[in-house]
Amino acid sequence: KLHNMVQELKGNIRVFCRVRPVLSSDISASGSQLSEKAAPLRDEITADMAFPDCRDHKEITLASSSQSATGRERQENYSFVFDRVFEPHSTQAEVFEEISMLAQSCVDGYNVCIFAYGQTGSGKSFTMEGGSTDATQGMIPRAVAQVFRASEDLRSKGWEYKIEGQFLEIYNETVNDLLGKYDLDGKKHEIKHDPKTGSTRVTDITVLTLHSPTQVQALLSSAQSRRSVASTLMNERSSRSHSVFTLRITGSNPGSGENCEGSLNLVDLAGSERINVSLGNGLNDKDRVKETQNINRSLSALGDVISALGEKGDKHIPYRNSKLTYLLQNSLSGNSKTLMILNLSPLASHLNESLTSLRFATKVN
Ligand code: ADP
Repeated sequence: KLHNMVQELKGNIRVFCRVRPVLSSDISASGSQLSEKAAPLRDEITADMAFPDCRDHKEITLASSSQSATGRERQENYSFVFDRVFEPHSTQAEVFEEISMLAQSCVDGYNVCIFAYGQTGSGKSFTMEGGSTDATQGMIPRAVAQVFRASEDLRSKGWEYKIEGQFLEIYNETVNDLLGKYDLDGKKHEIKHDPKTGSTRVTDITVLTLHSPTQVQALLSSAQSRRSVASTLMNERSSRSHSVFTLRITGSNPGSGENCEGSLNLVDLAGSERINVSLGNGLNDKDRVKETQNINRSLSALGDVISALGEKGDKHIPYRNSKLTYLLQNSLSGNSKTLMILNLSPLASHLNESLTSLRFATKVN
């Protein structure tokens, strides 16, 4: 009861921050010799990111130092507070511990959205999908397993459950079916919203009935491998698109006549970095500019929606400003719980992108 009251007071939006560890590839990418230069670089990095409030795991401070015009070293500190901060050594299990309640909620009839936001390479896919071992499994497989466990529990209490899944991608404001033939079918998928039933449907999208976590894992990895084959053609397309995995859970209890319907949306957002258009990554400049504008527009539309939801009163919520927010309209309003995980790179060279991400998160927090 007390927990519920606290939840209500705080609203249903949470923001976490997760800093990934330094990778050996970061060190070689910096151009230094791995052997002797690795250690100084690590020092430099730890000096750049500090966690003064480790005990609470709630605050992150970034320090940037610069030379002033007079040649004096100037240091600036930036502090940000989150519902939870995960340091580089935090494990997937530790992150999931803070999320498992949300997976439980969708079985109880809530609509849940979990977003991973951050620049490309900051750990969004690692957080959401994770690696191939049990220890490195990400939030998607863990949440799926939790949903199946929770529905099994309720089955033993007389409930019947149906779990359905869809997996789609929004690229350049176009919806692609990741469980279908991926692009090759040339089908246009439209998002239809029915205000009467409050349901959202995507036309011609593959919706599968799911029976086990293993089946879901197999579906997700085949979808991802098809996506990455397509993305080598389309050049890093997966980091330039949002992927949305949705589980819809419908339960009924023939004994008591009760019904419930909930959903879990797990969203790996497009990289938030500002793209240098002159880099020319396969697309011509005009296409790259359009792609970048679409990403910026949809990420800021998401920020606008989440921050409007966090405000009191009957504020107009601008769902229609992007495909992503239109798709998730029901899952972001009313009976819903939202979590944004802000992924950060620990590298000094990414400080500016990290600050931009942190400021975005402050807006929705
Ligand atoms: P993004 O999806 O944001 O582009 P990735 O998830 O692909 O970033 O992460 C970039 C690299 O960092 C990958 O090699 C990934 O395995 C690694 N990585 C990210 N987060 C962690 C972590 N918490 N622990 C270990 N490796 C990580």
